Amino acid sequence: MPELPEVETIRRQLCREVVNQTVLRAGSHQSEKFLPARKTKGRRFTGLDRRGKYLIGELDNETELIIHLGMTGQLLVNKEDASKKLDPYCRAWWSLANGKTIVFRDVRRFGRIAVVNKGEYSNIPTLRDMGPEPFSGDLTGDDIWLRTKGRRSRIKTQLLSQRLIAGVGNIYADEALFLARINPALRSISRPQAERLLDSVRTVFSEAIERGGTTLRDYRNLEGEGSNQHHLKCYGRSGESCVICGSILRLRVIDARSTTWCPQCQAR
Ligand SMILES: [Zn+2]
Repeated sequence: MPELPEVETIRRQLCREVVNQTVLRAGSHQSEKFLPARKTKGRRFTGLDRRGKYLIGELDNETELIIHLGMTGQLLVNKEDASKKLDPYCRAWWSLANGKTIVFRDVRRFGRIAVVNKGEYSNIPTLRDMGPEPFSGDLTGDDIWLRTKGRRSRIKTQLLSQRLIAGVGNIYADEALFLARINPALRSISRPQAERLLDSVRTVFSEAIERGGTTLRDYRNLEGEGSNQHHLKCYGRSGESCVICGSILRLRVIDARSTTWCPQCQAR
């Protein structure tokens, strides 16, 4: 599933294509999950933002086009209009005044599109309850520590909930906890651990953005595959040696999510 670095990579590339462009035509699959794409017809994009794993297109009538890529969602830019009819997995498309067509392709259909009044997220609870953006300038380790206090769930699960820090999914949760040397099953963390966790999330995210994201299966940015998959230190490496201490990385299930960790570096 695309996480913050993948969505941010797409946002940066897509900005150049859509901002200040008017949607001449818009279409979608019949499903309720994609129908709202049609509401953007005649509107002009004034900006393209991101919150966690959500892309937010700002429109000139004080509404927002919200796109969640789900498991397999991709955004493609076609130079001409015709190709959308050839792709059976096209769920929505927007033809722009510059002659290009943005296509939302989603094989498994876990993605979602919504058009809402600016900032009105009551029907999208994950977005409404989203934790702070990791790169937000005034966010500190203490803020993260305070947000973990009183929570009963494991730190890995808290990360995946989007409420602790926005945009973390299974890949970067494992990477960040490994880098921070925090056991993923802990139910509470110390102040210094919270400090290290925020630093680590920022590090793994910024490195992944520089590399265009992590392509393991379906994820593509507008220019093709990312390259961060060649640099993962923990996620997907169970049974292999820890790059820090040489111990064999282990795999366990935490709240139904497979989790890789180092028993030495991330001892409880
Ligand atoms: Zn280790």
